[in-house]
Amino acid sequence: MSYKNFPMVSNVIFGRGSFNQLSEVIAPKRLSMKAPFIYIVDDVFKSNSWITSRIPLSYDDRIIYESSKEEPKTSQVDKLVEDIILNCKERPSGIIGIGGGSMLDLAKAVAIMLTNKGETKDYQGWDLVKNPGLYHVGIPTISGTGAEVSRTTVLTGPTKKLGINSDFTPFDQVILDPELTKDVPKDQWFYTGMDCFIHCVESLNGTYLNAFSKSYGDMAYTQCKEIFLEDSLSLEAAQDQLMMASWHGGMSIVYSQVGVAHAMSYGLSFVLGTKHGIGNCIVFNHLEEFYPEDVKLFKAMKLKHNIKLPTGICANLSDKDIDTMIKISLSLEPLWENALGKNWKKTITPKKLRQLYLKM
Ligand code: NAD
Ligand code: ZN
Repeated sequence: MSYKNFPMVSNVIFGRGSFNQLSEVIAPKRLSMKAPFIYIVDDVFKSNSWITSRIPLSYDDRIIYESSKEEPKTSQVDKLVEDIILNCKERPSGIIGIGGGSMLDLAKAVAIMLTNKGETKDYQGWDLVKNPGLYHVGIPTISGTGAEVSRTTVLTGPTKKLGINSDFTPFDQVILDPELTKDVPKDQWFYTGMDCFIHCVESLNGTYLNAFSKSYGDMAYTQCKEIFLEDSLSLEAAQDQLMMASWHGGMSIVYSQVGVAHAMSYGLSFVLGTKHGIGNCIVFNHLEEFYPEDVKLFKAMKLKHNIKLPTGICANLSDKDIDTMIKISLSLEPLWENALGKNWKKTITPKKLRQLYLKM
């Protein structure tokens, strides 16, 4: 097929307080009393009863708290899957991720790996998953990544940081309750929100752009500008709007690709462990050459919200580490091709990337 036929999230709920409906939503999906629902929840909520008291637990249902300090790893998914297999009487009825992009990605990956043999690292790539995953539900508690709507789960493996991109990755159900984002720390709100802004910029300025991606990208881009540059929205309206911008930004890249900031921030992440949102900000701040107007806007947003980004993070790296970063970044060919066209290798050389990394 020359045109890709993408699956989408089949069911979605939107609304403040809609998290309260979780029990009703998943009840019909319970396979048996012995087949539990497993919740993968960010450990930031461990003693937060406002959230945890509303997680419906019956029979053998279980909450697994995971840290989002580091981005999800293939080995972490393998361990979770093994733990679930050892501790459940039957294959679970479903996996429910509650948190930011990290928890959403973990939930998607665990749902896939419970029905597919072998190690998670072997599925990093495009369309390598053979069997449909378990029923899986995503409940974002911070907005921006678009992980709630995307066809990928981004994982760091032994040799690469790459998603499991497959038709079985998207959630079967998403609950969008913007109220859940109310306690996100300000810096993190900015970093993850900018991930959405950058998705739009990279999609809208890419060579892969088409009317499908453009319509979603335009919408999220306008929403981000209103949220981060104007004072027209109440706090609640801004939370609602950012949750939808995240969704649209994610939809925009389904049918196109991200670009330079993502290609370079994957390198930072692999070598330094820099997290996605802040990593994209650190890189994007130096990309005037590629996205001149939008980098100006980004700097205005940064100033308005008094965000200070770390500097000199690559200054003391060995040549070997910088080379690894460059290698990881250059391996993301579709991102570069989207950003700069088929002849991208003429402009993007290891030397060029080294110069850019050393500025960061
Ligand atoms: P995150 O999940 O890493 O969370 C960031 C921080 O915010 C954490 O400290 C977390 O504990 C905290 N947090 C989250 N919700 C909170 C709340 N309501 N109150 C207080 N604190 C809260 O952040 P993220 O930026 O959403 O996700 C980044 C991850 O998403 C990366 O692993 C990245 O690779 C992945 N990602 C995936 C996709 C995709 O399509 N699958 C797209 C972009 C990014
Ligand atoms: Zn991103």
